[in-house]
Amino acid sequence: MVQYTDAAPSLEEMTVLRPASCCCGDAIIGVEGEAEIHGICHCNDCRRRTGSAFGWSAYFRDDQIMRKTGKMLRYTISGNEPQERHFCARCGSTLFWKTSSPRLDGLTGIAGGNFVEPPLPEPKISFRSHQKCGWVTLPSDWQVR
Ligand SMILES: [Zn+2]
Ligand SMILES: [Zn+2]
Repeated sequence: MVQYTDAAPSLEEMTVLRPASCCCGDAIIGVEGEAEIHGICHCNDCRRRTGSAFGWSAYFRDDQIMRKTGKMLRYTISGNEPQERHFCARCGSTLFWKTSSPRLDGLTGIAGGNFVEPPLPEPKISFRSHQKCGWVTLPSDWQVR
């Protein structure tokens, strides 16, 4: 288990820092600026991570990660793109992950739905769209991969 000791962001910091927090509120990762890659993904790994029809992921440069708070545990998934996923030790929400993919080198993936106040903007890219649930309809101006 990793205990991150950064203090929770103050109210003033919240205006520049975008916090992603877990369900119970113990674990927070705070970022600055906009995501480098921002999309949803329909693969089985993303579905299992979220328990939903697709995963919503925002990749920020490692130097945009300003704050980590709370006790987190991690696990690794193997496969084409091995990932190390970090989740709240108390409630289990996955907050962030690192992948071994060279195209994601230097980036940290953060679970998009965990940014609540303020929420992230519309993601605009759909990944692994061939695995999409038939009942999911994407906006016509999104990039579909
Ligand atoms: Zn939690
Ligand atoms: Zn995926």
